[in-house]
Amino acid sequence: MQVQRLSLPSCTLSPPNVSQSKQLYTKLSRLNPRSKSVFRNSVNRVFKSLTGVRNHGGLVGVRCGVAQEEDRNDGFYMRRCVELARKAIGCTSPNPMVGCVIVKDGKVVGEGFHPKAGQPHAEVFALRDAGDLAENATAYVSLEPCNHYGRTPPCTEALIEAKVKRVVVGMVDPNPIVASKGLDRLRDAGIDVTTGVEEELCKRLNEAYIHHMLTGNPFVSVRYSISVNGHFLDQLGEGVAELGGYYSQLLQEYDAIILSSASVSENASLPASQETGANQPLRIIIASSSSSPIQIPGLTMEPSGKVIIFADKVTTVELESAQKGIEIVVLDQINLNAITEYCRSQGFCSILLDLRGNVGDFEEVLQDGIEHNLLQKLVIEVLPLWDQSGGGNFPIALKSLSKRLEVKNLQPKISNQNVVLEGFL
Ligand SMILES: [Zn+2]
Repeated sequence: MQVQRLSLPSCTLSPPNVSQSKQLYTKLSRLNPRSKSVFRNSVNRVFKSLTGVRNHGGLVGVRCGVAQEEDRNDGFYMRRCVELARKAIGCTSPNPMVGCVIVKDGKVVGEGFHPKAGQPHAEVFALRDAGDLAENATAYVSLEPCNHYGRTPPCTEALIEAKVKRVVVGMVDPNPIVASKGLDRLRDAGIDVTTGVEEELCKRLNEAYIHHMLTGNPFVSVRYSISVNGHFLDQLGEGVAELGGYYSQLLQEYDAIILSSASVSENASLPASQETGANQPLRIIIASSSSSPIQIPGLTMEPSGKVIIFADKVTTVELESAQKGIEIVVLDQINLNAITEYCRSQGFCSILLDLRGNVGDFEEVLQDGIEHNLLQKLVIEVLPLWDQSGGGNFPIALKSLSKRLEVKNLQPKISNQNVVLEGFL
């Protein structure tokens, strides 16, 4: 019989798409806390074995060098870790999102992710999922395993106890109480440790966490919309605020969103993420130049929506009786420093500055943010419109800015009919 030999499509394998599952931690919290399965993320495993995938289609005699294959597989499983970690998007702050995969003899035997601050870490879920099969297996983790007693015991000890043979880590934890101590502990226990696999992807996953850890400040992004002829637009593109749209996803990712009071009044609703099980951000409404009483619609219908108003001394804030519970902070001057200070005191790691409505409200905030380097990221939505109606109202702070800002790593993505550019300052 003739053996068919083929050379190597398997080298470019990429992980299959996993359909968005619901926030799994909610399921977990309903399980009996005494049951072993409380430590299990019920992940739908979409692939069991790389080897298995390769052998589909009757290919015979396909071989790669062992080291080369291991490297390639490391990337594959790390991307799966990131995919798992993202299932808890918007739920882990101030903790990072982390995913873990346990692989033995080319097969995935355990998977897990960190669902929420205070809950066990990804490694614990994955090890529990793998059970005895974790012995002599390789554990892939998107972030360095912790080596300290926090709200949960150290994951390094769990990995050592499970007798894994090798640990592959996406990135070192910038948290000073972890920083490489986790890797050292694993190496001291005789475990083979590889680090820096799909490092950029893992860093991108936790950009807010990393910034917060390194600086103590929240990660601040500025979002706005423009037309194809470069004019500011006070509107969102069609479909972007609906389920799966970039704006709906953004709201889910941030701890707080800063809005103009005019935007809230004009749109007659508070922006809310439409993603399944999304944690809604704190809505910070700034009312610096508004002379009319602020109307906050829909609040009584949204018990989960937390709202806070920052007003300066000259602004009158009159709320209807149903809105009396809203916290109002009066400041001498509304600036980004004051807002980030407030967010820091609340333990928030990320803020989205949403430039809509009366952009004059943002003048001080933007000026302050740029002058003091408080802005980390830009999210610019380009709508498929040639329109200069809003051309005169781009924030003055940006118009009069003499400072030239370099935008790093500018990348486009598509959301419905719109192009969304993301870059870092
Ligand atoms: Zn841990």
